[in-house]
Parts: sequence; C-alpha cells; structure tokens
Amino acid sequence: MRVTMQKLDPYINVDPGTMNPFEHGEVFVTDDGGETDLDLGHYERFIDENLTKLSNATTGSIYSSVIAMERQGEYLGKTVQVIPHVTNEIKNRISSLVSDDVDVVITEIGGTVGDIEILPYLEAIRQVRLDVGRGNVCYIHVTLVPFIGPTGEQKTKPTQHSVTELRSRGVQPDAIVCRSESPISDELKRKISSLCDVDVSAVVNAADADSIYEIPLVLHDEGLDGVVCEILRLNVPDPDLTDWKWLNQRMEMAQRNVRIGLIGKYVTLQDAYLSVVEALNHAGIHHGASVEIEWIQAESVEGLMVDSLLRDLDGIVIPGGFGERGIEGKINAATYSRENGIPCLGLCLGLQVMTIDYARNVLGLANAHSSEFDPRTPWPVIDLMESQRSITDKGGTMRLGACLAKLRPGTKVAEVYAAEVVSERHRHRYEFNPKLRGRFEGTDFVVAGESPDGLLVEFIELDGHPWWVGTQAHPEFTSRPDRPAPLFCGLVKAALDRKEIGMVAQAADEVSTELDVGSAPKQAEAVADASSAAHR
Ligand code: GLN
Repeated sequence: MRVTMQKLDPYINVDPGTMNPFEHGEVFVTDDGGETDLDLGHYERFIDENLTKLSNATTGSIYSSVIAMERQGEYLGKTVQVIPHVTNEIKNRISSLVSDDVDVVITEIGGTVGDIEILPYLEAIRQVRLDVGRGNVCYIHVTLVPFIGPTGEQKTKPTQHSVTELRSRGVQPDAIVCRSESPISDELKRKISSLCDVDVSAVVNAADADSIYEIPLVLHDEGLDGVVCEILRLNVPDPDLTDWKWLNQRMEMAQRNVRIGLIGKYVTLQDAYLSVVEALNHAGIHHGASVEIEWIQAESVEGLMVDSLLRDLDGIVIPGGFGERGIEGKINAATYSRENGIPCLGLCLGLQVMTIDYARNVLGLANAHSSEFDPRTPWPVIDLMESQRSITDKGGTMRLGACLAKLRPGTKVAEVYAAEVVSERHRHRYEFNPKLRGRFEGTDFVVAGESPDGLLVEFIELDGHPWWVGTQAHPEFTSRPDRPAPLFCGLVKAALDRKEIGMVAQAADEVSTELDVGSAPKQAEAVADASSAAHR
C-alpha cells in the first residue's frame, strides 16, 4: 500500500517554528522547507517517505487561509463561521494529500478529546466519512489505560470517558489503541469492547516497548493492520515485516556500545533533540552497537568541568540551536574534542561553534564570534546570511529545506557520503562568513563541502583528526532506521574506533605492569592480542 501521513495540530501558531523546543520539542524540517511537528519525523522514519509542508496543519494556518480568503472576497455575502468555513478548510487540508500516488492517507489529530480547540477537527473528520463513503474511513482512537496505585489495577475509565465524548461529537471509533505501561489483559479488552461498542478484535494494546521500532511488530501481533484493512475493505496480502524484524534483531544483538555526549541547551526535554537521538540510534544499529547518550547541559561545560564532563566520552554531538545561553560551553566542547582527538559532529550551530573555536584558539582571532551572539565582535566568523538582512518577519523565513552541496573529493565527508553532490535539509539564518574564509585557507581546517555556487560553506572537517566534522545542515532529519545518515555513521564509527584503541591501550598497560619490566616484543604481541580481542 502506498501510504502518506499528516498531523493536524489544534494550536494557534501558524507552525511550530516559532515555539520554544522546551515546550514543543524539536521542530522537524521537511525537504520543501516546512517547519513542522516532530511527529512528522517519526512518520518519515516509519513509512520511509519524504513528506511535505502539506503534512502538517495547525489551527493558526487554517484560520490564516480562511481569513485570507475572506479578505479576497471568496465568501462574499456570507458570514464566515467555524462550521462550515473552518471545518471545510480542515477537510481541504486532509484531501490535499489525496493523489493518484497514494492509497491511504493517515491523519493524526493532536491534542486530547475534550479540549475546546479540538472541536472543529472532530466535526471535520465526522463529515469526511459522509463525504468519501463509510467504507473509506477508519477512525482509530488512542487512549491511555493507566495503572492505579499499589494494587496495580488498570483503569478503563479514561477510555470510556473519551469515547463517550467522541460519540457526543458524532464519531464512533472503529478501533481503539490502548497505551499502557504494561500489557493489558484480554478481560480488560473485552470490557473496553463492550463499554465502547468496538469489536474486541479492534481493541488493541500498545504497551510501552523498549524501542519504538518494536511497535510495528507489536501492532501487527495485536492485529491492528488486519482490522484497518478490513474496515477499509483493502484486499492486501500479509505484510512483509522482514525489515522490521531484522532491525529489532540487530538492536537486541548489539554487543558493542559507545557513549556519545550531546551538548545541548534543552537536555531536560529530550524530545528537543528527537531526530538527533534517532539518527545516533540508526548509526548504532548499522555498526552493531548500542549508543548510550550522555546528556550534557551546555552551560556546565566551563572551567574545570570541561575535562571531567568530556574526558570519558567516546564521541560528542553539538546539535543545532538558537540564542546565547550555553554557547561558550559548546565552544569549549569543540575545543576539547579538537585538542583531545575525541570524535565530534557539529550540526548547524555545531558547525558554527567549531568555526568559532578554530578562529579563536588556532587562528588567534581574539573574541571571534557569531554576530548572532556578539554583534560587536571584531571577527564575525559566523554572520547573518546576505539574503536574511532585510527580513524582519520571524516565521518561516530562515534558509529552510533541502539544499544541494558539492563535496570536496578526498575529504572524510565525501568518503562517508560516497557522493560528490548531496542534499540535506537546512534551518538557519547565520553562516560561515565568506569574507573571512581566506583566514582559514591553507590550514588543517578544511571546507569539505560548499553550495553549488561556491558561496556558502556547508561542511567542514579537521585534517589529521579522527573525526571533527561540522555541517551547516541537519542530516538527522533524513536518517532512516535502515539507512542512517552518513555523518552519524562516521561519528559512531570513529567513536567505536576510539573506544577500542582505548581498550587496547588499557590492556597493554595491564600486560606491561604484569610483565614488570617487560620486553618490547612481548608487549607488541600483547597489544596485538588485545587489539584483535577488542575487534572481536
Ligand atoms: N542559530 C543559528 C542560525 O540561525 C543556528 C541554527 C540551527 O542550529 N538550526 O544560523
């Protein structure tokens, strides 16, 4: 089946681009430059399709369209109302995904049944069934089955209440997906079935799993796919879940592990870095290793703490971000990883702080900075892009979406991409200052990729370092479970190598202590043994 997906969000921001990641998690970017809800990242990772701006609509964007149409006189003579004008626009957003290339559109409505702002959406989807015919719509309601207290009793009340509320809006669910901490019993399913008037085979349980990538297998075991196909009268063969099984087996069998430090500003809300975390996991799966993420608050990477926080890491990621808080900590992490040979990957702002580190500490450009954080710096090595200078509007105006870059042959970046031209998604206003590029020329700071016209720096790396690589893009957005983003693969590989070299050195140390004085050939042999053991 050819499937596409969509999220409708009942908040008033036109898109999540202007929201604090603390509140809403990561802003996911599509190829066509949409700043969207982070769920679209999951959709792309699960259905392996590139989505577009059309796959995310908010109340803000829906009202904007309705109001713009009203101003253009499209409703001339009419009173413009939530029903039918707003609900029609919601239905337009759903049908905008219908094309000859798709068989099924999955539309998720965010929020909770019972919220005031969700009402127009429920009314719109109620009408959709009438518009497209009964057998062409399947309503799936996701509910929470909580555990209560010391008795560990599972409660169906929230499910009953939300189903009652849904029905009062005219929507009878065809299937109910019960989220729970641990599996729910068949008896409980039967209870939900009879109270909510949903076939017992259509009450399915999605209990917490170790990894989200188990969920397709769980939902298949629970029979949700069969139920949906039956309701939609889709005559399809059994699904081929080989790839999902392979992925899960690989995760279970991972024998190696690496610790990657993520130096972030929003580390207490890990959803703020959702795609980065997923891309690290994908790279781990690729290398047969599990990736343990060490969440490091950027502001704490200062002074004496730098060494103690970063010393034991196998690798570092400096992710994207905005605003000054934590910047010096991120620059310190760039310096430390560069000086100590720790593999480091800088994403967007990450590339920018790596550039600042190099300018200050290697090129000796005192107080070099990004003009985003220090408008009066004598060396604005990162500066506002020319195209951004006249823009005052904050929403949707950054350099957004997929852009091509040409890579410099022979660099580590070109090697991991195994390509000369690559496309990655962007979301930034500032860039490597082209006026100061000459200062970096002829050093070990290599521009590994630039925009096709040669004007923008897109990738950097440090010659002679195992992996000190920065990109102005966000390769995390296109990483897929079975096709990890090349730069994340490169980082995890370098981190694994570093860890194994460390283990070899430690083993050699132990051997030489044992041998006391130790003859050189014996030590070399021990190192070789330890090295092959580490590789095994
Ligand atoms: N704040 C920086 C800029 O606008 C980096 C943005 C990011 O990391 N996404 O250029």
